Amino acid sequence: MDGLRFVAAIAGSIASAALLTVTGPVELARADEAFAVEIAPGIYGHAGSIAMMDAANEGDIANLGFVVGEKGVAVIDTGGSVAVGKRLLAAIRSVTKKPILFVINTHVHPDHIFGNAAFEGTGAQFVGHRNLPRALESHGAFYLKAFRNIIGDELMKDVRLVGPTLLVQDVSKVDLGGREIELRAWPPAHTDCDLTVYDPATRTLFAGDTVFLRHIPIIDGSVKGWLANIGALADIPAVRVVPGHGPLVAPWPAALAEERGYFERLIGDVRAAIAKGDSLAQAADEAGQSEKDKWRLFGDYNARNATAAFAEYEWDQP
Ligand SMILES: [Zn+2]
Repeated sequence: MDGLRFVAAIAGSIASAALLTVTGPVELARADEAFAVEIAPGIYGHAGSIAMMDAANEGDIANLGFVVGEKGVAVIDTGGSVAVGKRLLAAIRSVTKKPILFVINTHVHPDHIFGNAAFEGTGAQFVGHRNLPRALESHGAFYLKAFRNIIGDELMKDVRLVGPTLLVQDVSKVDLGGREIELRAWPPAHTDCDLTVYDPATRTLFAGDTVFLRHIPIIDGSVKGWLANIGALADIPAVRVVPGHGPLVAPWPAALAEERGYFERLIGDVRAAIAKGDSLAQAADEAGQSEKDKWRLFGDYNARNATAAFAEYEWDQP
C-alpha cells in the first residue's frame, strides 16, 4: 500500500526504509509518519499523550484512528483541537485520497470532538450515540467557555461543536466498501453517550473511553453501568483494542482487567464507607487509595470518581 511510505506500519521496518526514498516535503512526511501508525490492515491509530489537555499538547491526549475501505474512510474521534484534527486529516491524506465517509465521535468529551471542524467540508457524515446531541446541548457551551482557560484562545478560536448527522440507536453498521464496521451505543458508563467501533475483518475494537489503560478511568456516567458494560464488552470477539487513553493497542479482552480492578476496589471502598457512616468528603479522600500507584493522573480524578460512586451507592441496600 502506497500509504506505507508515509505512515509507519507498527512493525516499523518497511516504513522507515521507504521513508529514505521520500522526496519533497520531508518534514511534513515525517510529521505524518509520527502521527498515525497502521495497527492492522487498513486500520490506523494515533496515540495521544497520557496527560490533561493544555496549550502545550494542543489537546492531543486521546487515542484516535481511521479505517480505510474500498469506497472510503471512517474516522474515529478527531482530537482535542482543530490543530490536532488537521494533523489527523493530513495523516489520512498521506495514506489514501478516498473520500472520508464518516467521522465517528465515541462520546461528547472535548479531547475527542474538538477536532471535528477540521473535517467539515470533507462531505463526511458525523456519527454519534443517540444521546450525543443532548450531551452537546447540555455541556457544549460550558466546554467552549471552560477550555479557553485550559488550552487557550489561540487553539479555541477554530473550535466549533459539530454535532452528529447520523445517530446510532443501539447497534448499526456502516459500509466503507468491502468493509462493514459495527457501531454500538452503550448504556451510561464513562458518559451517557459512549459508542464503540468494531472492525470484524481485522477483529479490531476502537473502544473510545469505555476502556482506559494506565490513565485513570474517569466516571462521568455510571460506575455501576460501566462495570456491567465490561461484561458485555468482553464478549466482543476482538483480538486487539484501541483504548480511548493509554497505549495505542492492547490485547483483548485482557485490556479490561485493569479498569475492572479499579472499579471493584473503588465500589468496595465506597460501600464500606457508606456502611460505616463516613461522610462524602471522607470517602472522596480515602476510597480507591490502594490503586494510587497503578494509574497516571490518579490525583486529578480519583476523588471525583469516589464522589460519583458515593452518589450512586448511597441509597443502595447492602
Ligand atoms: Zn472521555
